[in-house]
This record gives sequence, structure tokens and C-alpha cells, in this order.
Amino acid sequence: MKASHLFYPTLREIPSEAEIVSHQLLLRAGFIRRNTAGVYTYLPLARRVLRKIQDIVREEMDRAGGQEIIMPIIQPREIWDKSGRWSLYGDEMFKLGDRHKREFALGPTHEELVTTLVDGEVHSYKELPLLLYQIQNKYRDEIRPRFGLMRGREFIMKDLYSFDVDEAGLDLSYQKMHDAYQRIYNRLKLDYRVVLADSGAIGGNESHEFMVLAASGESEIVYCPLCDYAANVEKAECSPEQTSRDVPESRPLNKVHTPGQRTINDIVDFLGIPKTEQVKTLMYYADGELIAALVRGDRELNEIKLKNILSASDMFMADENTVKEVCGAGFGSLGPVGMKIKVYVDLEVAAMKNFACGANEDDYHYTNVNAGRDFTAKAVVDLRNAVAGDKCPGCEGRLQIMRGIEVGHIFKLGTRYSEAMQAAFLDARGQEQQFVMGCYGIGISRTMAAAVEQNYDENGIIWPLPIAPYQVIIVPVNFNQAVQKDLAEKIYQELTDLGIEVLLDDRDERAGVKFKDADLIGIPLRITIGPKALQENKVEMKKRWEKESFLVNIDETLAMVQSIIGK
Ligand code: ATP
Ligand code: MG
Repeated sequence: MKASHLFYPTLREIPSEAEIVSHQLLLRAGFIRRNTAGVYTYLPLARRVLRKIQDIVREEMDRAGGQEIIMPIIQPREIWDKSGRWSLYGDEMFKLGDRHKREFALGPTHEELVTTLVDGEVHSYKELPLLLYQIQNKYRDEIRPRFGLMRGREFIMKDLYSFDVDEAGLDLSYQKMHDAYQRIYNRLKLDYRVVLADSGAIGGNESHEFMVLAASGESEIVYCPLCDYAANVEKAECSPEQTSRDVPESRPLNKVHTPGQRTINDIVDFLGIPKTEQVKTLMYYADGELIAALVRGDRELNEIKLKNILSASDMFMADENTVKEVCGAGFGSLGPVGMKIKVYVDLEVAAMKNFACGANEDDYHYTNVNAGRDFTAKAVVDLRNAVAGDKCPGCEGRLQIMRGIEVGHIFKLGTRYSEAMQAAFLDARGQEQQFVMGCYGIGISRTMAAAVEQNYDENGIIWPLPIAPYQVIIVPVNFNQAVQKDLAEKIYQELTDLGIEVLLDDRDERAGVKFKDADLIGIPLRITIGPKALQENKVEMKKRWEKESFLVNIDETLAMVQSIIGK
């Protein structure tokens, strides 16, 4: 490709709307343009990168036994009613109607559609397992579309669905996908971790996320430096540790006047009791029932864990007025003693001695509270977010935290959909059985952005070779000089003939501008043709990820390029 023909509108300035590096660079380097919030056009350079990611994904899905199909984006309401998700999915679903007032969704995911398809066509266990996948746009009306391609409202996903006769079959399909995903991210040359993920209250019993490590990542990952334990922070198990005062005896319960003291910090100052010896009481509505959840004063409650423990499909924080009516006090003075509703207690709180908390009376707190003696828990459970320094659930190590971008997600669905949608086949004994399913997603467009988050410097993108839009860029310092022009075109032709993807910067621009653009768009290998080197029969080469360039004899150019890019 000649740069003079290539449509890559680069920008000198950092676009103000872009907060993270990948968003800034993909805009600046002319890869993407925003259409409306969370909706982008992919320009030619981006299209090439996406195609390479898709090719790798396709090869690995096919190798693992997947068969590619293309399902519709427009999905009728009826199939979503059948699974019960038309209302459950909520506002994240884009909905539309036709001229006959029938309702449809723009597919945010395809479990309903693929289950309907397979139920209609597959009747016998002999036709299983079946692994179907597609690569296609997905539509989700995200509350906060942001970070460019990271959280779009229209984005490209690979989604595969597995159908098996039983759990053992699902285990095999799941393992195949797990391995295929590892091969994919290895081939993409991204630094990633596979982490245990939350699989939600409904259905699934096992789930992993594939996280590309990056400081800008929206997900927090907990990992153990000593063993291979790694989990999404939402999922990471917390083992309790005795951290309370070294006072083994329970002291008598004591009610204290605490006028105007509402927060944990207020009580630290007012009563001199550290956060680690206080307990927070948080109030939630879970499927319409008001409940209380207790965590240590310095901890964060993990809403996902709570929701799973309650098996709630709908859960949100209660408002202060209702809480006051039911418990007799506002948010600043709540506590479990004398509370009439169900109280869920974090493991750590149950092990604490003589802690402080609200007294369910405004401006009063209790000190020396002890679980069991002063109140009864509905359940003692793991409710808090893991933090750095927690004990590893797998070994004696201490957990650490880092950030990641979720690029892939695999999920055992079991019979969640086949049961709701009555999708069944006949087993060897002629008995009807429900399909045992799994689903496996890869964010293709998000993976492109994640690759940039991991591969850039102050001058621009540094594409990993397997997904670079072009592998080589040839920059003649002055294209109007016949010697330079001829050599540039000759090398261009020879490399192209070898199947190497080359961009020739034939523009009538200053060398500095051309170098800047080459760095910005991140082409891995640059060949510069300039008068000085030419005098010695040489060209200059520079790897995008290294600082220094080096000279190569003209007649060794092809061999050198091949050895660098491994072709
Ligand atoms: P997230 O927690 O980031 O919202 P999710 O759990 O909703 O992700 P899945 O439904 O598992 O995501 O979708 C599969 C993959 O699709 C994700 O792992 C991610 O890579 C990608 N993805 C999901 N939502 C978006 C989005 N809004 N924009 C771009 N990619 C997305
Ligand atoms: Mg989501």
C-alpha cells in the first residue's frame, strides 16, 4: 500500500475526549472515529488489525472443533420472554419495534437465539457435542460507554456456544475453549492472566476471565505470587484472620452517646476506636426484602458476593427513610443489636471481639459488641472485597492486586437456558434430556484497544507483529529523488512478492513528518532510504520497539526483514 492512497487521517493534538492511551492513540493515528457515544467507525488500519485478531481467533476456534455461523443481530422478543431475560436484561438492551408493533432486541448476546436454533435442528445425542460460533457486532446500551473501544455500545465479539449431552461433556468443551483462549492470547503476544470469575447467582457453576494486564484496566485482579491462584476481585475468596484487639475476654456491652457522629472516621476521632475494631452495617433490598450486611469498618462490602449468597435477582441499597422507619435510626447509627431483619455477617466480623457499631438509635453507638452474644446472624459468610495482603486461599502466600482488561470470558451455563426454553434431545435410551451448555466470548474490538494499552511509547503505538496493520514501512527521505524512489519501489515490490505487508511512504512530506507518522501508527519495522546510507550501498532499519537504528547492505535487506518478522 502506498501511504499517499491510504486513508489514515492522523491528528497532531491529543483529542480531549480521550482519557486512556489506547483511545487517544487510536484516534490520533487515524484508526477509529467516533460516531456517537460508544459507537465507532473502524478506518482501514483498524480494519486490518481487527481482521488479524479475527483470523487468529477463527483458526483457534476451528481447531477446537468450532463451526462458524452468522446469526441475526435482530432478535424477536418472544425468545427472550422464553428465557425470562427480556425484563431481566434491563436497560442495557437496545430495543426496537417494527411496523406491526412487534418488539425486537439488537443482540447483546446470543444464548436465546442459538438455543432456539439448536433445539429446532438437533434431536439426538449422536449429533452432540456441537460447538457453534460467530464473529459479529454486539449491542449493549452501557450506562457508561467510555475509553473508546473498551466499553462501546456497538462492539465486535466472538461468541461460541457449546451443546453437550451431560456435565462431563461440558467439562471437556470448557477445557477445549480454555486451552484455545490461551493459545489465542499467546499468539496475540499479550501479557495476560486467566482468573476465576463470578458466574452469578443464576445458572453457571464455573467461569474464567482472560485479563490483559494494564494499569488502565477496569477490573481488579487478585493473585498470589507463590501459587497460581488468580481471581477477579469480585470473586476472590477471603479467609478470615483474627485481627481484633488482643483481648480474649468479651467485655460487657456498652451504649455511648455519640452526638452528630455518623461515619466510621467520626467514631475513630470521637471514641478513639480504630476502623479495624468497628463494624459497618449496610442495608439492601434483595428481591423486595430489606436485609442488613455487616463488614469490618475498613472493608468494602462485595455486592456480588452478597447477591449470590441471597440468590437475589434484584438487589439495591435501601434509602435512608425506609431504613429509619424499619430500624429506628438513620445510616450513621445502624448496628445488628436488636435488629429485627435478617443480618448477614462477614466471616471476619464473626471472629471480631468487642467491636463498635451503631445502636439503632440516632446519636448512639455500642461498644464491646460480640456476635452470638449480642445478636444472631442469619448467616456468617464471605462478604467483603479481597485486599492486598490477604491470605491466599490456595497456599500460605499473601495476595497482591493488579489491574486488568477483561478481553475474554468463558462460562459454564449448564441447563440454565435449555431448561427455561425447553430445549432437549433424545439420549441413547430414547429419553428426553436438556442440552448442557457453555458460552465463550472474546471482545475483538476491546482486544485491539488492550493491545495498544500494553504496547506504546511517547511517540505512538508499537503493534505486536502478529496483529500489526502492516509489518514494514519504507520511508524514502525524499521521494522526488530518483535513486531513492527507485530503490524504495524495488524493495517494496520484492517484500510484497514475499507476502510481507508493506506500506510505502511515497508522500511529498518532510522526513520528520514521515518518521513521526510511522511511529504513531506503530508499524513494527521501518526501512529508511536516505542519501547518506545510499552512498555506502546501505539502508537504515529500525525496530519500532528499540531506540537505535542500524545499517544493512542493500542486497541483504530482504533476508534481514524476513529474519526480523519471522517470515
Ligand atoms: P464487562 O464486565 O466488561 O461489562 P461482560 O462480562 O459484560 O464484560 P461478556 O458478556 O462476558 O462481558 O462479553 C464477552 C466479552 O465481550 C468480554 O469479555 C469483553 O471482552 C467484551 N465486551 C463486553 N462488553 C463490551 C463492551 N461494552 N465494549 C467492548 N467489549 C465488550
Ligand atoms: Mg457488561
